[in-house]
Amino acid sequence: MKLHVLTLFPEMILQGLAPSIIGRAVEKKIISLDAVNIRDYTLDKHGKVDDYTYGGGAGMLMQAQPVYDAWKAASGGKKIRTIYLTPQGTPFTQNLAKELAKEEELIFLCGHYEGIDERVLEEVVTDFVSIGDYVLTGGELPAMVMIDAVARLVPGVLGNDTSAEEESFHNDLLEYPQYSRPESWHEKRVPEVLLSGNHAKIMKWRLEQSETRTLRFRPDLYEKYREKQHLIKQLSKDKRNNIHMMESLSRGKGEILYRDGNNLIIFDREASTCMLKAEKTETATKLSERLPEAKWIIVNQEFVKEVLVTAGYGLWGECNQYLYTAKESLPVRYKAIRSLTTEDVPYVSSRYKHDTEEYIRERILAGEIYGAFDGDRQIGFIGLHNEGSMGLLYVEEEYRRQGIAESLEAFCINRCLEKGWTPYGHVLTDNTASEKLQDKLRFYKASQSIYWLSGKTH
Ligand code: SAM
Repeated sequence: MKLHVLTLFPEMILQGLAPSIIGRAVEKKIISLDAVNIRDYTLDKHGKVDDYTYGGGAGMLMQAQPVYDAWKAASGGKKIRTIYLTPQGTPFTQNLAKELAKEEELIFLCGHYEGIDERVLEEVVTDFVSIGDYVLTGGELPAMVMIDAVARLVPGVLGNDTSAEEESFHNDLLEYPQYSRPESWHEKRVPEVLLSGNHAKIMKWRLEQSETRTLRFRPDLYEKYREKQHLIKQLSKDKRNNIHMMESLSRGKGEILYRDGNNLIIFDREASTCMLKAEKTETATKLSERLPEAKWIIVNQEFVKEVLVTAGYGLWGECNQYLYTAKESLPVRYKAIRSLTTEDVPYVSSRYKHDTEEYIRERILAGEIYGAFDGDRQIGFIGLHNEGSMGLLYVEEEYRRQGIAESLEAFCINRCLEKGWTPYGHVLTDNTASEKLQDKLRFYKASQSIYWLSGKTH
């Protein structure tokens, strides 16, 4: 990931981030960080970058010309997401950090004095972001805050890639309390359950603790969490048909964008996927007008699909939805299965043609594609799509009918169960071989088809 910071104090950015984990990621070339001095671009012979504001008022304003030229130099004429740090922006959240971590390149623009001439902001800025309801003297500290939060989500920056999944704000909950050695300190003992070795009990205890903490310290977040739990319960009345929405919510991926009775829009921002449900045709039409820009829209009601097709969304495919409701893990007979690495991107993308190489890379970096091997030779793979469904199944021709696909599925199911998820998948209706496999593994089939539509950004 390439990060550019437009600032009047480049040394503040470089020195501020150098000693941290982010500094190490720069050294390891996982991210690059370049601080552009806006002053280097002023055409004023005294090096001035600010002037009085029209209409009077206290303080100076940064002028448009040096900011624009510094931005042009950093962007090199490319369309790069440009964030202006401002107390007037939308509040920075973990969800926005996740979204930005997916970008290849970002520009941060730091203001000073009273801010920056509005005209240049109109031309270059894509996102106005605030780090909180208070006013600082400059945008450098906010830029550093954002860079730290975004860069640590870039795969490879933190040692342990799963750690971000269990942190505060994931699923609208704060993190549970944690303890390290010794077992007893100041006569306070570590809670017994954590010493029990019982994974299920520990997960349950942690969830309860998270809920209690969130209710106490962040009632606003807790309200969001509770609303989600309530909706999941309602959707569970028709679990087979609604599992994609339930899992999106319970895994902390989807947010409720709109809800009015049974009219519903869930949006997984990271996966750029919308899920939609409507009571009748008229409300479906209204919902379609509220849809955010997204790569994919998933619906399981035929009339909603029709409404969306009429509204200009393209139908990509019709699938059957399968879910695995048993809680026990499955035996994996073929043993040589492991998570893939980015070295395996060309292999997977040359065989799985439904998605781009960039998408495959992102899925591998997320640790969610698993490969089967015969010695050093790759012979197949399976994975989770970014919105949560199982898929991407492939086995080399000469290795088929030997139970390898079944083992790959069992492996993937077990990984989901370890995380407390309900595995589910979407199989194109003409893929009979895959349908047979789902039946064999005791997946349940939903009665409604799932329609995948490509969004308007596609
Ligand atoms: N006059 C501006 C206003 O009232 O909105 C405040 C300008 S502030 C003194 C100077 C610069 O600091 C801003 O241009 C912005 O880049 C940065 N800044 C200050 N507070 C911030 C916050 N809470 N979040 C993000 N950036 C902030």
